[in-house]
Amino acid sequence: MASYGMHHRTADFRALFTRVLADLKEFMGTRNDVLVLTSSGTGLMEAAISNLTSPGDRVVVLTAGKFGERWVSLAKAFGCTVETGTAPYGQTFALEAVRAKLTPETRCVYVQATESSTGARHDIESIAKAVRALPETLLIVDAITGLGTTRLDVDAWGIDVIVGGSQKALMIPPGLAYGAVSERAWQRMETTKSPRYYFDLRKERKAAAKAETSYTPATSLFAGLGAALDYVRQMGDGNLAAGRDALIANAEMCAAMTRAGVQALGLKLFAESAPAAALTAVAAPAGVDSTAICKRFRDQFGAVVANGQAEMKGQIFRIAHIGYYDYLDTVGVLAALEHVMAETIGKKVEYGSAVRAAQEAYEKAKG
Ligand SMILES: *Cc1c(COP(=O)(O)O)cnc(C)c1O
Repeated sequence: MASYGMHHRTADFRALFTRVLADLKEFMGTRNDVLVLTSSGTGLMEAAISNLTSPGDRVVVLTAGKFGERWVSLAKAFGCTVETGTAPYGQTFALEAVRAKLTPETRCVYVQATESSTGARHDIESIAKAVRALPETLLIVDAITGLGTTRLDVDAWGIDVIVGGSQKALMIPPGLAYGAVSERAWQRMETTKSPRYYFDLRKERKAAAKAETSYTPATSLFAGLGAALDYVRQMGDGNLAAGRDALIANAEMCAAMTRAGVQALGLKLFAESAPAAALTAVAAPAGVDSTAICKRFRDQFGAVVANGQAEMKGQIFRIAHIGYYDYLDTVGVLAALEHVMAETIGKKVEYGSAVRAAQEAYEKAKG
């Protein structure tokens, strides 16, 4: 990435761009058109609102955390009439309640695959089934932490727009949003009226057909993305889809190990009923501010464990296990957590208990 000095209107960049789009198609497991935007993931979230709606359109947002609330804010910013289906932080939606929100007038449904602010996983397959019963309703999934950590069958389930970001399971720095757009969604764009310019997806599609982007792309990040996809392909012994499945299996395994380790220390999972594979959110023990837990991780172990966002700050801490994060990282973080707990709760911790539970979970996952 550091040495990549390619001008973007060149045959070399076009070749890289074409390869990255084809690889992303395989990575996402879709036949739909794939797009990459130079922006953080939220840029493609915004595009999925501005390109697919007109002011006054009725849309449903399923929200159970900060990223769900981002959909609400975005849809309101573009003048949509927003109906929300909610679940408390740390939980996921009751399917009956989701169905009750959907009407034939619902133009779009917006949801997260995994709500990274709470560590919950939403059941996209079932939600998609409910949405697909309505012929005029599009389903848009923010899978920014879902892609590469959880199984998502874009075409079979009928996900109209899926959104990913470069800095999550694809392991490169932030700055690229990627996704796939269904034919139904392209047709919707022929009639929608919300304003858009930089994030005009039809314009990007036309440019992509000529192996170009509408504006100057972050060329070095494309080089990084190409390398990251090669790395995933290597995980699948030369097969990118198999590599993606291995990446997901690794996240699921690290998640199962982390949950077992955390619970062995008597800590409570924040999203116990539907935990994501991308990250594990843990409730801070009574009387302990999770800010102190995150600070000890950083100061003593150089480990970045995330605090809760907004009103969850101080209440929870979040351990991510995506991309190249693996068995050894998991064991290391859980061993560090034992020290952090001993110091913050001032109670005796049985050293090795979290690590042992994680090892047992590993053995079980291996079958
Ligand atoms: C990280 C994340 C985002 C934010 O994307 P940006 O790249 O910061 O714009 C959105 N949704 C989810 C679920 C995320 O995990």
